[in-house]
Amino acid sequence: MTEFGNILIGGIVDGAIYALLALGFSLVFNVTTVLALAQGAFVTMGALTMNSFMVSAHLPIAVAFIATLAVILTVTGIVEWVIIRPALGRISYTNLLILMAGLLTAFEGGAFLIWGSIPYTLRQFIPGKPFDVGGVSIASQDIWVLATMIVCVGLLWVFLTRTTIGRGMRATAENMDAARLMGVSVDRTILFSFLISALLGAIAGVVIAPLTSLDFTSMAGFTTEGLIAVTLGGLGSLFGSVTGGMVLGVMDALLSGYVSSTFGTAFGLILLILLLIVRPQGLLGKIRGARADIAARLIGKEHMPIQLPRWLSRSGMLAVGIVMLGLPSFLSQSKYFTTFNIVGIFCLAIVGLELLTGIAGQVSLGQAGFMAIGGYTSAILVIHYHVTWILGLLAGIALSIAAATLLGLAGSRVRGMYMAIVTLAFGIFVEAVGNGLGITGGPSGLYGIPSFSIGGYSFDTETRFYYLIWGLVAVALILTGNLIRSSRGRIFRVMHEDDVGARSLGLDTRRAKVIVFVLSAVLGSIAGTLYAGYFHYFSPGMVGSAVSLEMITMLVVGGSGTQLGPLVGVALLMFLPDVSQRIANDALVIDGALLVLALRFLPSGLYGGFNQLMLWGTRSFSRYRNYMSNALLKPGSTAVVSSGDEAEITGNTVIPSRSNHSTVSFNEGVEVPEHAESKPNRIVRGSLNTIATNVDALQVEGLSKSFGGVQAVQGVSFEVAEGSIAALIGPNGAGKSTVFNLVTSIYAPDAGNVQLWGREIRGRTPDQIVAAGLFRTFQTSRIFRRLTVLENVLVGGYILSQNSYFAQALWMRNVQRKEKELVRRALAILDAVGLSDRANDPAFTLPLAGQKYLDLARALMSGARLLLLDEPGAGMNDAETAELGAMLLAIRDVGHTILVVDHNMDLVMGVADEVTVMDAGKVIANGTPDQIQRNESVIVAYFGRKEVRA
Ligand code: ADP
Ligand code: MG
Repeated sequence: MTEFGNILIGGIVDGAIYALLALGFSLVFNVTTVLALAQGAFVTMGALTMNSFMVSAHLPIAVAFIATLAVILTVTGIVEWVIIRPALGRISYTNLLILMAGLLTAFEGGAFLIWGSIPYTLRQFIPGKPFDVGGVSIASQDIWVLATMIVCVGLLWVFLTRTTIGRGMRATAENMDAARLMGVSVDRTILFSFLISALLGAIAGVVIAPLTSLDFTSMAGFTTEGLIAVTLGGLGSLFGSVTGGMVLGVMDALLSGYVSSTFGTAFGLILLILLLIVRPQGLLGKIRGARADIAARLIGKEHMPIQLPRWLSRSGMLAVGIVMLGLPSFLSQSKYFTTFNIVGIFCLAIVGLELLTGIAGQVSLGQAGFMAIGGYTSAILVIHYHVTWILGLLAGIALSIAAATLLGLAGSRVRGMYMAIVTLAFGIFVEAVGNGLGITGGPSGLYGIPSFSIGGYSFDTETRFYYLIWGLVAVALILTGNLIRSSRGRIFRVMHEDDVGARSLGLDTRRAKVIVFVLSAVLGSIAGTLYAGYFHYFSPGMVGSAVSLEMITMLVVGGSGTQLGPLVGVALLMFLPDVSQRIANDALVIDGALLVLALRFLPSGLYGGFNQLMLWGTRSFSRYRNYMSNALLKPGSTAVVSSGDEAEITGNTVIPSRSNHSTVSFNEGVEVPEHAESKPNRIVRGSLNTIATNVDALQVEGLSKSFGGVQAVQGVSFEVAEGSIAALIGPNGAGKSTVFNLVTSIYAPDAGNVQLWGREIRGRTPDQIVAAGLFRTFQTSRIFRRLTVLENVLVGGYILSQNSYFAQALWMRNVQRKEKELVRRALAILDAVGLSDRANDPAFTLPLAGQKYLDLARALMSGARLLLLDEPGAGMNDAETAELGAMLLAIRDVGHTILVVDHNMDLVMGVADEVTVMDAGKVIANGTPDQIQRNESVIVAYFGRKEVRA
């Protein structure tokens, strides 16, 4: 009982610290939607600064405390001002997360430079023996920790509810634009959220320091515990954060106390995974009612890495290949040979990381964890069980696949940033296991690992290993390159930009997230096995979480998203320490600083910068510069927030250079989408056989949906006859888009049902709806801005490409044929909508009307029978609208069914066979355009206003 009591007290004390950390995370997240991964650094920095003031400067405790807080506030203020603020809203969300990881690394390095690697412990605030309460000993410091936590939470609560700044913060958390409109200074709010969370961290550090010892390595650990706590409680919920922290602290303590301390870490990770699978919003968190039909809030400026002309990049690669082949003969006497081989090992792992983070946008802070699994598994099997290296390699891969699948399943169910949390926890867990188990050799590692060999052929010389590792790197590059330029693999690039958008186009991004995570883990695992088999020694430090963070730095500094760039990053960061011992000592600070600088000034890394330099003054370069300046100037491009239809970006009057269509004809350019060929889903195939003339394509019955207090849709019923054009009209806010979101399963209805060709769609996911033959566009067009126009259309044809990832990676003959066919089809469609001359431009360079046409082209590409178009004419002038009308009729005439929402009455009345009118969530009329135009209540509710305005 006493033992239990003591463990419990320890848990509560730790829990209080986690709670303070979690509060910091929540605060910043609420205001900026960013995870401030450097949060854990403030704990350690607070404690170490306090120690310096107390021990070196001999300040009294209260003065030292105030001085510490002043230092932390100053540092945070400067970092926020110089680094974070310029980045917010300018770099992508993925890169923001990486930036935060970079800050963590920089803080670690800074702490190492200032305080070295000796762990420090503060003396207790009030020295003395612990109290004894029924056998349970409670130190006075325990009480300090708890009291501090309670006071902090109380003060924070008062601050948020009673002060102007605090209320501004809450308003910003609710809706940044609305807050801005109401006169809240969003910049100041963001600054305050960072300052307060840093203070919370530092205070936690000061009070916990007498109970534990801290050095620069404890920072990442605090960040992880805080993240797990906040995920547990519910990200964004203040009281949830406190609860999450306490629960985690107590459970951790019980497990460490009664089971083993290694498994304390494991437990945190398992809890995190289970929670994300079962209750992703956390114990007390609510699912935020974000508008799923509107793109995310913080989107950075577009950065298309500039492309070299094909001949140049090909000959460049050829040259590099030849040099690499001949290199060993020059290197044989050089001390750099080993470095070259280790660079190769990390290059192999980073090809995986690039696929996952650079291409697919899933930030992984645990890639070295998979190297650890591969290395330890194979080395242990080879040493202790005398299996062959190949079997060891395969065992490592199998284990990595299992781990990645589990983590991927947890991370893919929720928003992208959870992948960062999960992988960070995973990396720390693997490191803890490596340190804690006997079979791994503990902190000093495994010795005497034999050289890697295949069937008796041992790669035991530098030269042999060189060819092995670089050969593998080349193969990995080719396979991943094939994958991401094929239809299936394009999904990775697409989900980087807009996950919800991708899903509603029929792309199963959840599955893709798991797949890409597994692929990257496999490459990491192979690299780890080779690392062990090359180095003959393997220790936790070689593949710890610091290494994972360093790999992120290599990725970004080299150029994430450029495929080859990250390899440059690896080479640079691995050779630097060879150049000078001084650099080796300051590696962490240098890493962090390079990362931050690269994100700020070299968005596509050294590689992108190099390309830019190569092309200076050429035509491609001036084209690129045009894109970039367009991206900055156009209202639609720096992707401001939009949290309501009214806030939509307007004002773009640029008219697209439409090429050739005074007449629109689909019969020539585009074949009627052939479902038989494209292997459609069951519903369509079934319906193709069974469609009687009287089965409606779409039937909506008694559909209702409310958001909080707003009854957005109320008992809406209507039908869309096969082969017709139906229109849904009504004033802004009538609920039209919500009907679309219900029909496409983006939201689940409160009541009512939807039938596609006579079949109920309830329970189907958005991508299954697309598979069923329904394709929709969004009111705010949801093009993938960094893909080219052509690629955007190809994404629409995702469902038509039935090749496996495997076949696509190998770029097999039938894949090539299929891809060619899809490109031909896409070009024909682009021609029909007048965008063929823009096919190879990045999509963000299209003006608004062009984006609408692109949406339409993508819908046609899918070959879906039923198209739901949400305000396709928005942002178009009269001539363009007339063209659009002609196009819709042509599309119907080749056999599609269309349901269109638009405000332009000329368009709607000109093309629709049947019109449904909504107002305030209800259907108020239904009939032919003629009937509607004569309908009394419609005239009052709708045209009345319209005519007055006109
Ligand atoms: P329309 O497309 O006809 O202009 P919407 O369907 O977009 O109208 O919106 C109908 C109502 O529902 C509006 O009051 C809108 O603010 C509200 N609404 C729509 N989606 C959401 C959501 N995800 N959360 C909260 N309110 C929503
Ligand atoms: Mg709408």
